[in-house]
Amino acid sequence: MPIRVLSTEVVNRIAAGEVVERPASVIKELIENAIDAGASEIRLEVTGGGLSQMQVLDDGCGIPSADVELAFKRHSTSKLTSVDDLDDIRTLGFRGEALASIAAVARVTLVTRALDDPVGTLLRIEGGQIVTREPSGRPPGTAITVLDLFFNVPARRKFLRTERTERRHIDTLVTRYAMAYPNLRLTLTHGGRITFQSNGSGDLREVLVSVYGATNASQTIKVDPVETPDTHILVSGYVSAPSLNRSNRSEISIFVNGRWVHDQRLTYAVIQAYHTFLMTGRYPLAVMMVELPPGDVDVNVHPSKTQVRFRDGDAVFRAIQRAVRRTLIDQARVSQIHTASAPTDVPASDSVDAERFGSTEWPSAWPTPEQVVRRAQLRAIGTQSPHPLHPDTPSTQIGLDLTPPATGGTTLTRSTEIATHSPPEGRPPSGQGHPLPPLRVVGQLGLTYIVAEGPGGMFLIDQHAAHERVLYEKYMAEKAQARVATQALLEPVTVELTAEGAGLLEENLETLLALGFDVEPVGGNTALVRAIPAVLINDDIQTLFNEIVADLQAGNEPLAGEIEARIVRRVCKRATIKAGQALSRQEMEELIRQLETCTSPQTCPHGRPTMLHLSATQLAKQFGRLG
Ligand code: ADP
Ligand code: MG
Repeated sequence: MPIRVLSTEVVNRIAAGEVVERPASVIKELIENAIDAGASEIRLEVTGGGLSQMQVLDDGCGIPSADVELAFKRHSTSKLTSVDDLDDIRTLGFRGEALASIAAVARVTLVTRALDDPVGTLLRIEGGQIVTREPSGRPPGTAITVLDLFFNVPARRKFLRTERTERRHIDTLVTRYAMAYPNLRLTLTHGGRITFQSNGSGDLREVLVSVYGATNASQTIKVDPVETPDTHILVSGYVSAPSLNRSNRSEISIFVNGRWVHDQRLTYAVIQAYHTFLMTGRYPLAVMMVELPPGDVDVNVHPSKTQVRFRDGDAVFRAIQRAVRRTLIDQARVSQIHTASAPTDVPASDSVDAERFGSTEWPSAWPTPEQVVRRAQLRAIGTQSPHPLHPDTPSTQIGLDLTPPATGGTTLTRSTEIATHSPPEGRPPSGQGHPLPPLRVVGQLGLTYIVAEGPGGMFLIDQHAAHERVLYEKYMAEKAQARVATQALLEPVTVELTAEGAGLLEENLETLLALGFDVEPVGGNTALVRAIPAVLINDDIQTLFNEIVADLQAGNEPLAGEIEARIVRRVCKRATIKAGQALSRQEMEELIRQLETCTSPQTCPHGRPTMLHLSATQLAKQFGRLG
């Protein structure tokens, strides 16, 4: 085939693939254009998760009538003129690609009026072709409507997720921009209903309240602006107190010169600053603003402009890590808990390690009076609960009172099975599905492990993991028979969620109901919780829902069954007896009996081992009794 230059239409379509991945990418480009146009207010109206319609209205400078067509030409921009300008980019846009790309893959209507123009212009473009151009009356500013995204790219449309998932991406994006631009009045509607609004007061804390709810926002700490003298890197923002954390890093947002960037390393700088403040596997929430001379950062890395390269990436990493760590340490100091000396395992790169800091308890984030009352109410009901599993309960009352799952056999039949199924000598019983031999409890070790003996030697059982397994199988058995024990709350409890979280909850109401939750979204990103699975009766409901939402967030559209299993695992994890909890012999025996009835007693629902096995032969070898 001869080589030929591609037509503009093909070029635009190819380029659009990089800029416009999904509805949220359109929203991102249009918000950035509005910000570059100096808007103080942006309204975003979305229908059908952006798949049917998105409209972005701003009160910015507008596009002069004479330039309207040009705005949709590829590589046409008012933000750059020469190559030198590329080294000093102070706007979010500069590639002149977004409008051309969007117009290539959707039906776009632009209505705009520049400040100096007496009348505005309406331009309609479909698949890159201008369909209408006419004068139009509107106040200065711009309104862009994008209909039928990817109407002419069926392959791409097929890859889009459900309306709900696309909506979630939009919510995340809009709230991020609201946090980065607290001076901006942002309103987001889905199907005509306002789901998020920031007031443009310029106070980031107020935006945090809109995004995370008042309770969560009260657990955030301001990172006071610190500028590194030599590199002129200015870091500021808000981070969560250690008590407010998530199971993934998705709520750590980094902005570089006002641009949201996807940078794993900088995200890690924030995480590292929490070393010893947070348990492994838990992540903070953070909004970090990094400002540095435009010449020290290259934003021209990818058409989507979400990646950047730094002249001195290490310096940026250090600046973020230090600013966050200092904030955490100062906060701990203010709280006047100067008890322990600094842990010795703080990373060596941490320049402030030498400073002493206290307990990782977080007094500023102690329960609000509302939470205290709520817990008291729950505890009151909890005394009649058939599942009094709570760390506060004296150990003799710890309720290992779970009946064996209906599907399980008796201990006797199980134990007769072992002879054939027990793992070979010398190999830990790590495989799933092997029933346990009958075990005799010897005692508890370090308030964490149960020492037991069986026909195959010594067993060291992790009490937390084992109980988690027991609860999990019981819960699943109850679930299979549609009779999950649920407990109504005396008073419904209001939980605050993010817009995304509220959406996810709504999407999974059926699943939650089947698992013993009675919860109703009541708008304004809040939900009323009326009942919860009985095993969780003493739990903190806000934290519980934060975790459930994080579980729902993890992974894109997992299968319904997987979502369910994830929530069940979460419930079991929260209800389980913890390490460090004293157990009476009777409780240990009860736990072991129940573990014996499990179908997969050797692992917890998360796949970690529940026990270690040291065979009689191994013991004999170790003591030199053999050969
Ligand atoms: P870029 O933002 O990289 O310049 P775009 O394709 O996004 O490229 O936009 C092209 C041009 O259209 C911009 O440079 C700007 O002059 C104009 N423009 C786009 N959106 C707006 C808006 N909301 N208000 C004013 N001007 C706009
Ligand atoms: Mg742009």
